[in-house]
Amino acid sequence: MTANVAEEAGDEPTENEPETALETARRQLARASSHVDIDPAVVDRLKQTRKIHEVTMPLRRDDGSVEMLTGFRAQHDSVRGPYKGGLRYHPEVSREECAGLAMWMTWKCAVMDLPFGGAKGGVVVDPKQLSSSEKERLTRRFTQEIRSAIGPTKDIPAPDMGTDPQTMAWIMDAYSMQEDETIPGVVTGKLPAVGGSPGREESPGRSVAIITREACDYYDYDLEETSVAVQGFGSVGANAARLLHEWGANIVAVSDVNGARYDESGIDVDEIPSHDTEPEAVTAATGVGTKIPNAELLELDVDVLIPAAIGNVLTEDNANDVKADMIVEGANGPTTFAAGAIFNERDIPVIPDILANAGGVTVSYYEWLQGVNRRKWSLERVHRELEGDMLAAWESVKDEVDERDLAWRDAAYVVALKRIAAAHEARGVWP
Ligand code: GLU
Repeated sequence: MTANVAEEAGDEPTENEPETALETARRQLARASSHVDIDPAVVDRLKQTRKIHEVTMPLRRDDGSVEMLTGFRAQHDSVRGPYKGGLRYHPEVSREECAGLAMWMTWKCAVMDLPFGGAKGGVVVDPKQLSSSEKERLTRRFTQEIRSAIGPTKDIPAPDMGTDPQTMAWIMDAYSMQEDETIPGVVTGKLPAVGGSPGREESPGRSVAIITREACDYYDYDLEETSVAVQGFGSVGANAARLLHEWGANIVAVSDVNGARYDESGIDVDEIPSHDTEPEAVTAATGVGTKIPNAELLELDVDVLIPAAIGNVLTEDNANDVKADMIVEGANGPTTFAAGAIFNERDIPVIPDILANAGGVTVSYYEWLQGVNRRKWSLERVHRELEGDMLAAWESVKDEVDERDLAWRDAAYVVALKRIAAAHEARGVWP
C-alpha cells in the first residue's frame, strides 16, 4: 500500500511569512512518503511529535536582576532507540522549530542506521548577550527543568547553534550531581576531559567534506578542478572548507554573519580562524579576496555551494538565481520546500543535510558508546569508522537515486522511512 499523502502536506506558508522548520519537514515527509510503500498510519504517526517539553525558568543575570526564559525539548520518535539531537541557544528558537528539527534528527539517525530516534531542544535567548557565568547558570537550571525527560537511555542532547562542548560538560555535571553518580552518556559533544570523543567537534564538517567528495565523484567532477563556495565559517563550514581544500578543491568563497570573501583563484582557508576561535574573522581578515554580501555568495557561479550557516537561506526568492551546479547542505534545513522544488526542476542536485552533516550525530553515537562502556577511542579509529559509516549511508541513498530516479532528498527520506517503518511494524501499537 502506498501512502498517498502528498496532497495532505498542508501547512502552506502564507505569503511573506517564512516557512517554519516544521512546515518544511512535514511537506518533505509527505512528498517522500509518496515514493515508498509504507503504511499510511505510520506516516500519520511520524507527522506528529511524540512529546514537546516546554519550560519557563528564571535566570539571575550578573547584575542581580532576574529574567524569565523559555526552553523546549521536542522528542519526535524513538522507535529505533533513545531520542537524540542538539540543543540550541538562539533568539529565534520556537516550539515549531524544535519540532521540525527533531523530525529531521529522526531521519538523520535512520539514514546513518544509528540506534537512536530524533529530538531537538533550545532556549530562546541570544547567547552573545550572556556572560560565561550566566550561560552556566542557565544551562544548569535548564538541565534541572528537563532532567526527567533526558538520560543516557532516554534522550541524549548534544551541541547545536549557540551551545558548545563546555555547555555539554555543564549539563553532564548538573545531571550527574542530581543523580548522585557520574553519567557521561547523558550528553555528547562534551569537553574531552569529561569523555568527549576525539574528532566530535569537526565531525559534521568532516562528513560534509566526505559527502561532497563522493558527490563530485558521482557527477564526474575532478575535485582538483572543483570550485566551492561555503556559507558560514563555524564548526561545520570551516571544517568542511579546510578538508576540501586539503583534498585539492578550490574554495573560492567563505563567509560569516557580516558578509563573505570571494577570490576566484582560491582562498587559503587555513589562514582564517573559525568562528569558535575568533568570531566574525572572515570579514575581519585583511588581504583575502574581495568582500561581497552573503546573499551574493549564494548566487556565485561555482561547481558546489555549501550553505553551512543557518536554515532557510535558499528560498523561492533566490533559487532561480543560484548558479551552482550542485548544493551540499551543511546547515540543518537551509533549503525551503519551495526552493527544493525549483532546484529539482532545474536539475540541480541537492545533497540533503540529513546525509551530509550526519557525521555530527554519528560521532555522537561513538561518544555515547565510549561513555556507556567506559572506553576511549583513538582519533584514527573515529576517522576510520566515520569514513565507513558515511560511505555506507551514501551507498544506500545513491542506490535509491539510481534505482528509482529520485532526487537526493527523497532518496535519503526513503532510506530512513523504510527503516523506521520496519521498526514501527515490528513493534506494533501498544497495548
Ligand atoms: N546538532 C547536531 C545535528 O543537528 C548533532 C546532534 C547530535 O550529535 O546529537 O546533527
